[in-house]
Amino acid sequence: MSRETVRGAAVIIHFDGRLCIHSRHCVLDRPDVFVPNVKGAWIHPDRATPAEVLELAHNCPSGAIQCEGVDGSAMESAQLVNTVRVRENGPVAFRAPLTIDGRPQGYLTIGDGPRFSLAKISW
Ligand code: SF4
Repeated sequence: MSRETVRGAAVIIHFDGRLCIHSRHCVLDRPDVFVPNVKGAWIHPDRATPAEVLELAHNCPSGAIQCEGVDGSAMESAQLVNTVRVRENGPVAFRAPLTIDGRPQGYLTIGDGPRFSLAKISW
């Protein structure tokens, strides 16, 4: 799955299928905005307020969903406190600036994103 960009009246949603870990938060939280199992358009930014779209992006553990204002303004910003959460069935979700093997993973630009998940962790 590749990258998609969908422009709404106030918000642009970016989806990067390479990052998606199929946790399904988006389609379960707002199946009207992220419509599951349809052919064609499945992302509908105008079915939610900008604040609701931002909340959906924050709930995407992998950073596959990101959003920005139609004027290019950033909607997401760094949290005051970095967090790491163990998600159901083991993925570890970071919300923090992160560097792995020398490659920055957080708080950069659309595509690098402020969220990141590691799918396979051995404890
Ligand atoms: S919430 Fe993010 S990681 Fe989960 S299915 Fe949706 S796009 Fe993929």
